[in-house]
Amino acid sequence: MITVDRVAEMRRMCDRERAAGRRVGFVPTMGALHEGHLSLIRAARAEADTVVVSIFVNPTQFGPGEDIDSYPRSMEADLAACEREGVDIVFRPSSGEMYPRPPATRIVVSGVSGPLEGEFRPGHFEGVALVCTKLFNAVGPCRAYFGEKDAQQLRVVRRLVEDLCMPVEVVDCPTVRDPDGIALSSRNAYLTPDERERARALSRALFAMADRVAAGERRAEDILAHGREVLARGRPDAVDYLAIVDGDTFEPVEVLEGPVLACGAIHIGKARLIDNVALTPPAAAVHPGRTQDDSEQGETG
Ligand code: AMP
Repeated sequence: MITVDRVAEMRRMCDRERAAGRRVGFVPTMGALHEGHLSLIRAARAEADTVVVSIFVNPTQFGPGEDIDSYPRSMEADLAACEREGVDIVFRPSSGEMYPRPPATRIVVSGVSGPLEGEFRPGHFEGVALVCTKLFNAVGPCRAYFGEKDAQQLRVVRRLVEDLCMPVEVVDCPTVRDPDGIALSSRNAYLTPDERERARALSRALFAMADRVAAGERRAEDILAHGREVLARGRPDAVDYLAIVDGDTFEPVEVLEGPVLACGAIHIGKARLIDNVALTPPAAAVHPGRTQDDSEQGETG
């Protein structure tokens, strides 16, 4: 495994890989690697000849007052994990290497960047779009692997790649969860044992909403009411949002007529946690004419 710190060197190496006809698979991360990241690396390892993982805590995607300074960092353990997973190149530039001067270029992926995370973290997706563009230019991957855990980010990156004709295929990978249902996240490290117990309410709420939908409920307001109730049991310090949105636009949906996403963002202690679960109405809900099970009234409460 080779470790590369400079953009120019990274580009040279990948030019060489591509010229030799090797397919480059790329996994961008901010480090503090966990099984979620490793699942992306394994997906890349299964498909690509050369696997590149970047470890870069990108300052442009953090807002004022956010956790860039305390963001967990574990470079030695990350390198060991990459080595174990058969990664070929770890790209770990410094901030100064990636941003030798304040960027004058802004990349705004309008529409999908607006709601939810876009509303609560203004500028976040601009930072994501900028760093992904720079990393793609440095690494020149054939495929780049992203987690459904950050579903909105995934759609933003897909749209960026499509709009700018970037020669990279975006591959989405399912969310990896701990046995207690919590989606793995580097930020889970902030949670005390008590907070971690309370944090389970987020995934519980999202899965409870999915159960409602599977049982035939189609009105978003009713599904959300149930989700809020389950979420409240975790006594989150704040709820940024709990929402049912279209999986392409991230705009709210009122009546479910096909698969959508339930998304949530909460604060517990020092951690801001996000998660999402697909809501898939049963066939009865998407084929008008079949009767709808209206048992939900008895279930609430
Ligand atoms: P991060 O280091 O948090 O920026 O994440 C790097 C990549 O790993 C992103 O594509 C994330 O969506 C993905 N990722 C983070 N957590 C998980 C998880 N629990 N399951 C699957 N992918 C994840």
